[in-house]
Amino acid sequence: MLSGCRRALPAALRLAVRGWAGGGGRRRVSTSWSPVGAAFDAKQQRSRLTGQSTGLFGVPELSSPEGFQEAQEKALQETEQLVQKACTTPPGPQIVMIFDQLSDALCRVADLADFVKIAHPDFAFREAAEETCRNIGTMVEKLNTNIELCQSLKQLLADKEVMDSLDPETRQVAELFMFDFEISGIHLDEEKRKRAVDLNVKILDLCNQFLIGAHLPNKIDKQILPEHIRYNFAVEGNYIQITGLHADCSDDLVREAAYKIFLYPNAEQLRCLEELLTSRNHLAQLVGYNTFAHRALQGTMARTPEKVMQFLETLSDRLFQRTLKDFEMMEGMKMKLNPQNSKLMPWDHPYYSGVLRAERYNIEPSLYCPFFSLGACMEGLNFLFNQLLGISLYAEQTEKGELWCEDVRKLAVVHENEGLLGYIYCDFYQRADKPHQDCHFTIRGGRLRKDGEYQLPVVVLMLSLPHSTKNSPTLLTPGMMENLFHEMGHAMHSMLGRTRYQHVTGTRCPTDFAEVPSILMEYFASDYRVVNQFARHFQTGQSLPKSMVSRLCESKKICAAADMQLQVFYAVLDQLYHGEHPLKRSTTEILKETQEKFYGLPYVPKTAWQLRFSHLVGYGAKYYSYLMSRAIASMVWKQCFVQNPFDRAMGERYRREMLAHGGGKEPMLMVQGD
Ligand SMILES: [Zn+2]
Repeated sequence: MLSGCRRALPAALRLAVRGWAGGGGRRRVSTSWSPVGAAFDAKQQRSRLTGQSTGLFGVPELSSPEGFQEAQEKALQETEQLVQKACTTPPGPQIVMIFDQLSDALCRVADLADFVKIAHPDFAFREAAEETCRNIGTMVEKLNTNIELCQSLKQLLADKEVMDSLDPETRQVAELFMFDFEISGIHLDEEKRKRAVDLNVKILDLCNQFLIGAHLPNKIDKQILPEHIRYNFAVEGNYIQITGLHADCSDDLVREAAYKIFLYPNAEQLRCLEELLTSRNHLAQLVGYNTFAHRALQGTMARTPEKVMQFLETLSDRLFQRTLKDFEMMEGMKMKLNPQNSKLMPWDHPYYSGVLRAERYNIEPSLYCPFFSLGACMEGLNFLFNQLLGISLYAEQTEKGELWCEDVRKLAVVHENEGLLGYIYCDFYQRADKPHQDCHFTIRGGRLRKDGEYQLPVVVLMLSLPHSTKNSPTLLTPGMMENLFHEMGHAMHSMLGRTRYQHVTGTRCPTDFAEVPSILMEYFASDYRVVNQFARHFQTGQSLPKSMVSRLCESKKICAAADMQLQVFYAVLDQLYHGEHPLKRSTTEILKETQEKFYGLPYVPKTAWQLRFSHLVGYGAKYYSYLMSRAIASMVWKQCFVQNPFDRAMGERYRREMLAHGGGKEPMLMVQGD
C-alpha cells in the first residue's frame, strides 16, 4: 500500500480539494526574501553561520549522520501507532486519513534519505541515508503484506453507504491504496502469496542481471577488424573491446563495426531477457491480470495496452511521411559524403541527422551562452510564472546546517494572494561525486494536516551547471537553459498541487502524465516572446537577436520525425514483450518485424538490439510514457499558450484543471476544451 511513496509511482484518477485557501489564512511575507536573479549571479549567498544548527532541510535530527537513525526510529514508531489505529478505526474517511498519515510518516524520511544517499558530499551522511532507505524499505514490504491493515481498508471499500458519502478524492485515494495491496498479491491464499514473493525476488535478480548484461562490452579477435579502424576501440592483447555504438563517429565503417559487434547476441543475456519476461507474465497472472502490461498500465492515463497501441499506431501513421523525408535527407547526405556506400542503415541515423543540423544552422553553443546567464534565466522563469500564475520566486536565506552544500539556493514560491506555496532547493552546480543527471526530487509532499494547516511541499532540483568564473557568471548553453526550464516544470507541478493527501501530491501522478508539465516548459523556452524577456548579454546587456532564436528552433525540427519514429519503435517493442505470453516468436524475430513496421530502417542480421534495451527494466510496459506526455504537452501548448504565452486566464486554467490534481483528473478533458 505504500509503494506510492517511491519516486516511480502508481496512481489513478484523482481529484483535488477545490478552492482550498490555505488552512490558517494567508502566510506572511518574510523579510529574508531577496530577488531571485541576483541570488544566482551573486558570488556567494551564505547561510546564517551563527546560532544552533537546524539540521538538513530544517529537520532537527539531521544535524549529524547519526541523526538518520533517530529520524528513522521516530518514523517507525509513528508507523506502528498508526497501524494500530488503522486496524481499530471503524470504516469512514478517517481510515483514508490514517493511511495517508502512515504513508507520509515513512515518505518524509525515505524520500529525504533517497536524495541524501546520492547527493550529499559527505560519505558518512550518504551511508547513514542508505541504511535508512533499506530499513524503511523493509518496513514498507512488511506493511504491503499486513493482512489486518489491508482488512480495515477492505471493510471501508465494501461499505457502499460510507463509500458513497465520501468526496471523490478520498474515494480515489482509498482505491489507490487498495490497488497497491492488490498488486503485491495480498488477496491470494498462503501458497500463492508465497509464490508471488518468490517471483518478485526472482524478477529483481533478473532485472539486475539484465542491466549488467546490457552494458557489458563485446570482445572480438582484433584480426577481424580492418587495421585502419582499430585505433577507435580499446585493444586488449589480441582482442578488441566494443563498449558502445560509437554513434557520433564520422567514419561509417567504425559505426557499422560497432553496431554489428556491440549488438551481436549474447546467449546468456538472451536467456535472461526471456526469463524476465516470462516471470513478469507469471506474476501478473498470479495476481489476476491477463498480461504484465495490463498490470503495469492500471492507474495510468492510457489504462490498457490496447489504448497504448492505438496511441502508438496513430502517432506512427502521422509521422510516416515526415520520417520518410528525414531518411531521404540523411541518405542524400550519406551519398554526398560516401558515394560508394550510400544506403542508409540504422547506425547512420544519429550521425547524419547531426551533420544535417550543423550544416543548415550554425548553432554553436558559445554564441548563445553569453545571453543565458543563470541569473537571467531565473529572472525569466520568475517573470513567466508571475505573468501566467501570479507567482513569484524569492531567494530565502537559509539557516545553519540546513544545506548539504553551501552553493545550494533555497527558493520560496509565493502566490500573490495565497502566500507561500512551498520551497525549491536549487542544487545547480557541479561538484565531484555528484551524479551528472538533471533530476527533480520530492522531499516532502503537500497535504492537508489534521490541524487545518497545509503541509508545504519541498523539492530539490539537481543540475550540473558550471560555476561562475572571475570574468563571468554561470553561463548556460541553449540545451542547459531548456533543461532548467524542463526541471522547473516538475518543481512547479509539485508546488502547485493542492491535494488533500500527499499520496497523490504533485508529481506523484500517472507515469504517462508526469512529463507533461516539464515538456510544456520546453515550449516556453523555445518561444521568442518568452526568451526575449530575459536573454541579455551579460556584458553588454544586448538582447538575443530574433534570428538566433529562430535558428535554434528550426534546428530542433531537423530529423525530429525520424527521431520520434525510433522512439515509437522502442515503445511498441516494450508493449509486445510485455503483452500476451507465451510470445509467438523469439524476441529477435519480434524486434525484426517491429523495426520494419514502426521504424523503417532495415534490421541487420545477427544483431539483437533488445539485449541492450535497459529501459525494459525500469519502465516495463511504460516506455511509451514520454511520447504520450509529449503529445499532450504539445496539445496544451497549441490550444492554450501559442497565441499568447503570458495569458493569465489560460495559466490559471492550466493550474486549476491540470496541475492542482497531481495530474489525475482526465487531463484530456482540458485539451478537448471541456
Ligand atoms: Zn522530466
